[in-house]
Amino acid sequence: RTVLGIESSCDETAAALVTDGRVILAQRIASQDEVHRPYGGVVPEIAARAHAERLAPLIEATLADANMRLEDVDAIAATAGPGLIGGVMVGLVTAKALAMAADKPLIAINHLEGHALSPRLADPGLEYPYLLLLVSGGHCQILGVEGVGRFRRLATTIDDALGEAFDKTAKLLGLGYPGGPAVERLAARGDARKVPLPRPLVGSDEPHFSFAGLKSAVMRAKQAMDKGAGYTEADIAASFQQAAIDCLVDRTRRALKNVGEMNALVVAGGVAANQAIRSALETLAAEHRLAFVAPPLALCTDNAAMIAWAGVERLALGQSDPLDIAARPRWPLDPDAEAVRGAGV
Ligand code: ATP
Ligand code: MG
Ligand code: FE
Repeated sequence: RTVLGIESSCDETAAALVTDGRVILAQRIASQDEVHRPYGGVVPEIAARAHAERLAPLIEATLADANMRLEDVDAIAATAGPGLIGGVMVGLVTAKALAMAADKPLIAINHLEGHALSPRLADPGLEYPYLLLLVSGGHCQILGVEGVGRFRRLATTIDDALGEAFDKTAKLLGLGYPGGPAVERLAARGDARKVPLPRPLVGSDEPHFSFAGLKSAVMRAKQAMDKGAGYTEADIAASFQQAAIDCLVDRTRRALKNVGEMNALVVAGGVAANQAIRSALETLAAEHRLAFVAPPLALCTDNAAMIAWAGVERLALGQSDPLDIAARPRWPLDPDAEAVRGAGV
């Protein structure tokens, strides 16, 4: 069975065709990086318009790549939230129109569930339950993933997401948008011991993350550098990345101590594309004699294959959604999780 997936919650317009045999028959991504670069970040109105202009031809091209017609797919899955609401609505309304026209089931996907299940698309051996570190542009959470739609949130950030901290560090260092990959490249040339930076909440009894203090410290380090402190932008990038890694490893280690039996330690989301983060977590998993799973880089940042795959998993359980289902700007994976000091979901 084949599912058409549609993603439009941030600044990538994407479509993909994925089978229940874990084959990505075709996928296309139109990035809006160039569109938003002059503004140094995503402008929601501009993003929504760009999705509206690009999505229909992108879906046609994806079907053509796989030599398929809409009639040949078994279901249409689209991101229904959380994200920038204009873009989400463009994707969801398009999916509804296609589902109605071709008389196919519609499956509304939580974008975060797309990230959370993407490792299972890449690795057929990955079984529930697994411990997931979800690190992306808008989120930094540790989740027990017990099944489709069954998430237990063990930790979240009390202020900024890690992707946000990477993007702000990039901006401060004049690396432009999007920032994560640029910080990683620069960090490779720097000395991570040169710039003393805080590791917020490391060793703390509470389970959560915090990156706001790290971000401010990076800003102060940049000012000090400009006044002649003996280090470079590359040293700041490396020191920032190492501080972030220390936080991730410490918090994940704490979660592993407190969680029940897990089949694997898994990382997903855009920041999971970072090689230094991947290898630090791989070492942590090995320490705990746990399998480590990280999706290939192209499945970490936003894409439609992960949305189609979440659709495949839901279709296999006989699930679909009514055509009047609403787009949701906020949509926590674990609605029972306690609110944390005004932080995001
Ligand atoms: P969310 O999924 O929380 O709604 P999003 O969809 O905007 O947010 P993603 O596309 O999942 O976020 O991830 C984008 C983030 O990942 C950006 O903040 C980007 O800087 C970061 N990122 C991408 N590649 C890397 C990398 N190699 N190292 C560090 N961060 C990275
Ligand atoms: Mg993007
Ligand atoms: Fe995302």
